[in-house]
Parts: sequence; structure tokens; C-alpha cells
Amino acid sequence: MRKKTVKDVSVKGKKVFTRVDFNVPLNDQGEIIADVKIKAALPTIRYLLSEGASVILASHLGRPNGKVDEKLRLTPVAARLQELIGAEVLKTDEVVGSQVTRMAESLQPGQILLLENVRFHPGEKKNDPRLAKAYAELADLFVSDAFGTAHRAHASNVGVAAYLPAVAGFLMEKEITALSRSLHNPQQPVVAIVGGSKITDKIDVLHNFLTIADAILLGGGMANTFLRAKGYNMGKSLFEPDQVEQAKEIMEKAQAKGVNLCLPVDVTVATDLHAAESAENVPVDAIPPEKMAVDVGEKTRALFAEQIKAAKTIVWNGPLGVFEVPAFAQGTVAVAKMVAASEAFSIIGGGDVVAAVEQAGVSEQISHLSTGGGATLEFWEGKELPGIAVLQDK
Ligand code: ADP
Ligand code: MG
Repeated sequence: MRKKTVKDVSVKGKKVFTRVDFNVPLNDQGEIIADVKIKAALPTIRYLLSEGASVILASHLGRPNGKVDEKLRLTPVAARLQELIGAEVLKTDEVVGSQVTRMAESLQPGQILLLENVRFHPGEKKNDPRLAKAYAELADLFVSDAFGTAHRAHASNVGVAAYLPAVAGFLMEKEITALSRSLHNPQQPVVAIVGGSKITDKIDVLHNFLTIADAILLGGGMANTFLRAKGYNMGKSLFEPDQVEQAKEIMEKAQAKGVNLCLPVDVTVATDLHAAESAENVPVDAIPPEKMAVDVGEKTRALFAEQIKAAKTIVWNGPLGVFEVPAFAQGTVAVAKMVAASEAFSIIGGGDVVAAVEQAGVSEQISHLSTGGGATLEFWEGKELPGIAVLQDK
């Protein structure tokens, strides 16, 4: 990796301002439902502690919109982190201020201090330089391990780097390494799988994948717009009439570049999302007017299997059907199993598709499941993410 990591600098005796992504899901009682994000940050925190640093952690949680929201305090996160790491976790009640300064000053090597939810401060999302400077004044070094927010330029993940040397943590390093491997000189053939609800969300990813992929397999609601562009009647299927031209453009570009753009040849249709019993498999030229396409069909799955078997690199964003309904998750599950069985280097990214692959129970066999939703997508779009750009080069 081009960027410096915690291993490239000396951390002994330093106070390290460490941006992590502790934006965990909470239930109505404010309890943590899943602590994967906290666990993902542990290797970096443990390393810093074992090397004799004091760790000042900063994270956002939810959307408090620049104000204190009692329900979004990081208190339960501090408690869970304390359990997981087996050491005391001190916590401040404010993001910055005299209490924070005092606690940071008295922090000893091997100790952990968690700041209050950074999005309680109105300057955080505005990337206010005064707030960034206040963070920097607490520490000697900035470590960024919050890949999930790397596409945003906020005070705690970008602004602070103007005042402190900035390096990557291990989670950030893992994400950058895996995602770079999929985009820069990937081993061919490269097969990209793109699903999800809308083309609008995926245009830039599709254009970028056209430059790296040998084949692109399309599914989900967005494939419906492509099918519509080819002239098929889509019945009640979700599709975007105003994106039909865009779909045509992408098909032409694929042809010009010799990229094998594989559209569904058959689909699972149903009368609506609650009518699993009405599901049937039909060819794309026979979608009944009163039904909607909710999943890729059986022939399509077999076609996709051939491409996936031949692949040396696989990138996948977006589920291939309405996977939230078990009856319509079969295409996504079948393809997840194909990717899991493949020897190829495989990366899956996107909030929903990662959830679908976890549900399918095959996440262990995927080379890399990306933890960033929007950040992963922007990386695949070929954009430079501000939260990565600020880290020092090796
Ligand atoms: P990701 O989070 O993986 O990037 P998206 O957010 O783009 O994926 O899309 C996920 C959503 O797409 C899911 O809620 C799923 O129900 C929906 N979807 C997939 N296929 C269809 C379809 N055929 N019709 C309607 N919605 C679909
Ligand atoms: Mg999504």
C-alpha cells in the first residue's frame, strides 16, 4: 500500500487521535444489536496500546445533526469496547472542551479515552478547522481506521490531518489494499456483478467497471431498466424510465470495449412483494403485465455461473433481487455460493449485498467483505476518497 500505516511510524509514548467507525446499529432501547464495527477496530487499538501509546478514540454514531442527542451518546459503546478489549475505557461527556483536554492530558501510555459522539458538534460535518485543531491539540499523531466514512471530509477524519501526521490503521489498510487490488491490474478475467435497486446509484461504478471488467453480470431492479431499454415489457417491475437512455449508452460502451454485458434472460416474477406464492420463473420476453421482476431466474443463474467459474477476480455490488423476502433471495444466495466456491480473488461491497451474503452463510469464503457502503462504492467509482487522500504516502 502506498499510504503509511501505524507500523511506519513510532507510536511509543505518543497520544494518538484515532478515528474509528463505531457507528453500530442500536435497537429501540438504545442497546447495541451488532458489534462487528467495534471488533473491526480492535487490532489497531490493541497494537497502539501494546506499543506504548495512549489512545484517544473518536467516532460518530447515528445522525444527531450537530446537537447533543441523549439517545446517541457513546456510553454503551464504551462499555462494549471495555468488555471486548478487557481494559478500562475512559469516556468524555463532550466532544471537545475543558473536560476533554484535562482527561487527554492525564492519559497514560496503555490507556484508552473515548470522546463523545463527534457529530454532537456542529463543526464536525462542516469540517470546521477550529474543531479539527482542537482534536489535534489533544494528540501527537492521527490514525485513521474509519474506512466507512472515508468518502466524507469531516473534521475528525480529514480536517485533523492538517495539524498532525496522519497514517492508516489496520482496517483502513486492509480495505485500501483489497479494493486497490480489484481496480489496479486485477488478475483477469475480471467479472463484475452489479445489482441493487437503481441505475442512478450505480452509473459511475458501471462506467468504471467497464474499464476493468471482462464481463459484467447485471441483476436486481437496475437490470430492469436495461431490459426495458432492450424493448421488453416489464409489467409492474421497478425500473427507471428516465435512465433508459443511460442504459443504452452503457450497453453501447460495453460493446465498443468488448465487455460481455450479461443481462438476465429470465426472471422470477410475483404480483407484489408480499405474494411469495405467486412467484414463477419466466423468460424476459414473457413478463406478465400484472407481475413484477423480483429476482434473477434459473437460466440466468446458470449463465452467471459459467462466467463466475472462469473468473480470477470478482467484484460484486448490489443484491440481484429483493433479498429481504426469503422467496426472492434465491438468485442472490445462489450467486453468493458460486462466488464463495470460486478460487478467484473476490470482493463484495455495499450495505445490502454484504448483509445478503452474510445471511447466505458464506461470508467466510469471500476474500474480502468491504465494511464501507458509500465509501466502497465511491472507491469503485474510481474517485479519490478524502479520508484516504489525507494520509501520508510512504
Ligand atoms: P447495496 O446496498 O448492496 O449497494 P442497493 O442499496 O443498491 O445495494 O440495493 C439494494 C436494494 O435493491 C434492496 O433493498 C433490494 O430489495 C432492492 N432490489 C433488488 N432487486 C430488486 C428488484 N428486482 N426490484 C426491486 N427492488 C430490488
Ligand atoms: Mg444499499
